[in-house]
Amino acid sequence: MEITEVRIKLMDDSDDRLQAFCSVTLDDCFVIRDLKIIDGSNGPFVAMPSRKLTSHCPQCGCKNHLRSAYCNQCGARLKEDRAIRDADGRTKLYADIAHPINSKCREMIQERVIAAFRVEVEQSKQPGYRSRYDEAYGDEVPIIDAGPEDTGPMRPPKTKAIQPAGSEPRPPHMSKSGDRPAESAPRRKGGDDFGAGIL
Ligand SMILES: [Zn+2]
Repeated sequence: MEITEVRIKLMDDSDDRLQAFCSVTLDDCFVIRDLKIIDGSNGPFVAMPSRKLTSHCPQCGCKNHLRSAYCNQCGARLKEDRAIRDADGRTKLYADIAHPINSKCREMIQERVIAAFRVEVEQSKQPGYRSRYDEAYGDEVPIIDAGPEDTGPMRPPKTKAIQPAGSEPRPPHMSKSGDRPAESAPRRKGGDDFGAGIL
């Protein structure tokens, strides 16, 4: 397996430990997004894309993040300390979505991504710099000349590049007014839970 492309999106706030988002292409055909480059004490390192782990509310069965004190759905008080602990006794709040399964692969990804990150940092100092992170891959490019077979009602519309997703499935929210969309939380930059997957 070879990493054939690395795309980097540098964060504006370099004081933050989250230095950049990153996507890698494997063998010119498979993309993994939402890797993160974190400024660690021994230099930058790569964190795999991760999702928040959840547990079910004992009262209503709704999924809640492990740090939530109350159920998002019914408001029931949730048991504290319901997270699984790893061998070192540290609370496991996140799980990697995609990750290497041996150190050789981990090192290969790490080296390749960090090298690309350093190049990107230099390039970003040049006038007219633009990150390629949000550009479309392969078939994500909108097809202008759609044939008849592409116009069936069951077909999803041809889409542009998918935006980087949040790192976790959104918990259901109760709409207080009942007539507004449930999603009321401000859109986050995506960096709020960086690095947690590597704890
Ligand atoms: Zn509940």
